[in-house]
Amino acid sequence: MEIFIQVVYFVAAVLFILGLKKMSSPVTAAGGIAWAGVGMVAASIVAFFEPGVFDYSSNVFLIVLAIAVGSALAYVTAKRVEMTDMPQMIAIYNGMGGGAAAAIAAVELARLAGGHHEMAAVNQVLAVVGALIGAISFSGSAIAFAKLQGLMKKTIRLPMHMVINLGLFALTLIAGAIIGFGHDVSIQLVIVFFVMALVFGVLFTTPIGGADMPVVISLFNAFTGLAVAFEGFVLGNAAMIIAGTVVGSAGTLLTQLMAKAMNRPISGILFSSFGNAGGSGAEEAVEGSMKEIQAADAGIMMAYANKVIIVPGYGMAVAQAQHKVQELTQLLEERGVTVKFAIHPVAGRMPGHMNVLLAEAGVEYDKIFDLDEINPEFPTADVALVIGANDVVNPVARTNPDSPIYGMPILDADKARNCIVIKRGKGSGFSGIENHLFYADNTRMLYGDGQKAVSELIASIKEL
Ligand code: NDP
Repeated sequence: MEIFIQVVYFVAAVLFILGLKKMSSPVTAAGGIAWAGVGMVAASIVAFFEPGVFDYSSNVFLIVLAIAVGSALAYVTAKRVEMTDMPQMIAIYNGMGGGAAAAIAAVELARLAGGHHEMAAVNQVLAVVGALIGAISFSGSAIAFAKLQGLMKKTIRLPMHMVINLGLFALTLIAGAIIGFGHDVSIQLVIVFFVMALVFGVLFTTPIGGADMPVVISLFNAFTGLAVAFEGFVLGNAAMIIAGTVVGSAGTLLTQLMAKAMNRPISGILFSSFGNAGGSGAEEAVEGSMKEIQAADAGIMMAYANKVIIVPGYGMAVAQAQHKVQELTQLLEERGVTVKFAIHPVAGRMPGHMNVLLAEAGVEYDKIFDLDEINPEFPTADVALVIGANDVVNPVARTNPDSPIYGMPILDADKARNCIVIKRGKGSGFSGIENHLFYADNTRMLYGDGQKAVSELIASIKEL
């Protein structure tokens, strides 16, 4: 039986890795998720055959009940969630993973403290490390969820919060070291250790601005992976070790990628607010004025263009305009216009946000280009159509060293011959700063909700 269990864990681990590999391309991503899912189901089923599970019938009943409740809740919420609410959904599920790893450690350490359990010295240390990371990830992710869901509107920064946080973290580490290296583990100390780790997760996350939460969620995701891997060592479970390591490394890479695409150091995101991150925050005075265009005129411009590059942003997601955008693309292509999509790595509110929306609407993958690939093409485009994007096309990132987004790589929509920007009004982007592109001579503003404005463009082109 032991051999059978290990073989299934091995197969599950291979499925996780192959699934992750497939997730690197939108063409194979859905299959990758299915492969990893099959691996997870196999690992979960075979866990029932671990020695001791059937010793008490109440065990099996509780496990099956937990799986049924968890699966039903996950199914319903995943079906209902809006694309714009996806980051908070990821936050809460990720937090559950960290919480589960911490709970495993809590049980193991409580049994150790009660004298019912022997643990190898190294496992005792690993259990504590996993517990610490998992507990921080759990409570921190809960705060991230509350912020993104709008349940917690304020950024709470205690006076001397850095000192308090460092002090609390040091105390948690000391308690963890006593438990991890101790011979007689006290249950009271285990409880105090968990409470301190959970409180630290809360205090660590509350000062971070809601807008930086996606990066923080990605970091917690990496934490959860590590916590699961450590607890996998404690339980001697190969599938947990491999799945946790894969999640931990993928989460770390993703965090780095997001920080790089925003040109912000990870420390700047975790320990300061947006405006403090780069430059002095001083804004350059904007020259020119915003010039409005009507859908009929914008439609003519696009219909008679040779090449149009569409730049989608967060506003397209809010407006759920992706299906209309695909309709517009087809209409233009029927008229012989070349249409390409330019995707910034942090357009929207999570990595891949725009790719997912466009794929959902049926936009072909070979029309979608990354920043490095598409930027050289803007000077040859007759029209850059910016839909609900702001920061990712703001030229001050190239020109004003004092701007908070200075150095962030941007899409060069301003270099197209004409630029049409669809947005509802004068609302700023995520960083809260003015966008000089909107005032440029070759830019025209098409005001309105993304979906409505694109529908009007479609109607005006159909009339030609
Ligand atoms: P922004 O958030 O900068 O701007 C979105 C724009 O969309 C706003 O100016 C808004 O203007 C407009 N808008 C909102 N609703 C609608 C609507 N219904 N119809 C039409 N327009 C609308 O978006 P970007 O995608 O350009 O930039 C993403 C930002 O998010 C970057 O600063 C990035 O650093 C940040 N970020 C991204 C992460 C990621 O992983 N993707 C993670 C963390 C942060 P108006 O109100 O006038 O309509």
